[in-house]
Amino acid sequence: MDAHGAIARISLAAVQHNFRRAKQLAPTAKVMAVVKANAYGHGDLSVATALKNEADLFAVARFEEAQKLRAGGITQPILLLSGFLNADQLQYSARHNFQVCIHQTEQLALLERTPLAAPITVWLKIDSGMHRIGFTPEQAEAILARLSAIKQVIQPVNALTHFARADEPEQRAVTEAAITRFKQATAGKVKHSALCNSAGVMAFPEAHADFIRPGIMLYGITPFSDQQGTDVGLRPAMNFTSSLIAVREHKAGEPVGYAGSWVSPRDTRIGVIAVGYGDGYPRMAPAGTPVLINGRRVPLVGRVAMDMATVDLGPEGNEQVGDEVLLWGEGLAAEEVARHVGTIAYELVTRLTARPRWEYV
Ligand code: PLP
Repeated sequence: MDAHGAIARISLAAVQHNFRRAKQLAPTAKVMAVVKANAYGHGDLSVATALKNEADLFAVARFEEAQKLRAGGITQPILLLSGFLNADQLQYSARHNFQVCIHQTEQLALLERTPLAAPITVWLKIDSGMHRIGFTPEQAEAILARLSAIKQVIQPVNALTHFARADEPEQRAVTEAAITRFKQATAGKVKHSALCNSAGVMAFPEAHADFIRPGIMLYGITPFSDQQGTDVGLRPAMNFTSSLIAVREHKAGEPVGYAGSWVSPRDTRIGVIAVGYGDGYPRMAPAGTPVLINGRRVPLVGRVAMDMATVDLGPEGNEQVGDEVLLWGEGLAAEEVARHVGTIAYELVTRLTARPRWEYV
């Protein structure tokens, strides 16, 4: 029987297209494909498998994410963007060809005192202005000196940084200063450098360096708030859909849904969609957030509930029970939906729950 609930349809061909688009923008750089957080909600093993002949490296945030990729047959090196927390993780990393970031002195001390079964590739994380994790440019020299004395660390080490504001065109100077700080701290002292997230790949070619580190663009979404992926040659990798489970006549002056938060100004038809925050559709989506039904945009009205969301179909139209509803994807960018919701498309795609049916095409 066909599902009548939400479906997350992931196009791995779109992911491959977007990967190649990143390569086209940074033709001389190698690519670390960022597949953390279940590949931003797209399925980490499926995405990594689709890129396994093309990506030079995969990057994840958590140790467990790297273990899952290895267990699933991914053979490339996997970079742990926030490194390791204890000796077990470090030893496991060396044995399984995980590369590690080091961003604080406890990790350095662990590296110095923990015997490893195999040499390990280390990336020194420089805090170039985000001020979250990483060593300051001023600390870099001393840390590099300590790293160079560790026999089980492959020499020379690599270095990376992460931009805080590369997605803000009016803040170019901030990212330019970050690039300068990183280069001053590392030039001539490290093997490979990696600076660019997706925004960096698109807006700062001077920082492409040895490796780029795109995440969101692989999924067809742009990090720039005034654009959508299709504007910059990307293809949305996720079509999040569901179906209409009711179409109801509705009288002017009557409310819809919890708290009666929306009252219809006219006689109309209300469509009820089998999607809610139980699927990961945002409860905070306000009235007016668009969905696409049979190619027509209609606005959300009333509160998004756990299992249902309601739209104003208008007095005329031919939508019927069973019709497919596109919540975001090709034809209705996740970026646009995110703007209505007051969040970023990163969050929309990453927050789908286990309830939708997953399909890979
Ligand atoms: N590098 C690091 C260290 C990250 O944390 C992230 C994502 O947050 C990325 C790269 C990829 O960024 P984006 O998804 O904006 O391309």
